[in-house]
This record gives sequence, C-alpha cells and structure tokens, in this order.
Amino acid sequence: VIVDLFAHTTWLSILALVLLGYSWFRITSKRVGARSLENARVLKATGPIVPFLANPVGTLREARVYVHLTCPSCGQRVRIPRGKGKVRITCPKCHARFEGKA
Ligand SMILES: [Zn+2]
Repeated sequence: VIVDLFAHTTWLSILALVLLGYSWFRITSKRVGARSLENARVLKATGPIVPFLANPVGTLREARVYVHLTCPSCGQRVRIPRGKGKVRITCPKCHARFEGKA
C-alpha cells in the first residue's frame, strides 16, 4: 500500500487489497490450533533472528550468560548457566535425561 501511494499502479493496488483481505481472513480464523502450528513453523523457520530483532540487548545479554540446549527426544529448549562445564540435564517437558556442555 505504501509503495502504491507513490507508484499508482492498478495491479499493486489489487495485490494489496487481496493480501489485506487474506490477512483479515487469517486474523479472524477460529481454528486456533492450526494457527498456532503455523506460528510455530514460522518461528522455527525464522530461527533466532526474530527474538534478536525484538530485543537485541536482552538477547545478547542472554547469550552471554546462558547456553541453550535442545532435548534430543522432544526438542524442548533448556537454558543452562554458562560456565558449568559438562552437565546432566533432566528435560522439564518429557523428563528424558541427556548430557550437555555449558
Ligand atoms: Zn524433552
């Protein structure tokens, strides 16, 4: 819409309207489970860049103080204080035990 303010092209106006309509359709969706899965896929695809863009100072401070490990059985991320050496971790989600280096 912002580009079309300066360009004044018909196809860009139609594209903007279609995208706005589609986004309204998605926003008002009652299928919360499906939307939640989509959001999880987007967050996984974008990786750590979105939290960094949302709060760069906090993310850098977090990375300096903690190590994030991933549970091999369920994929839950676990935060460990940095500098503890080799640690044995019990996953808070699935209670599987694994080892990691902090
Ligand atoms: Zn787990």
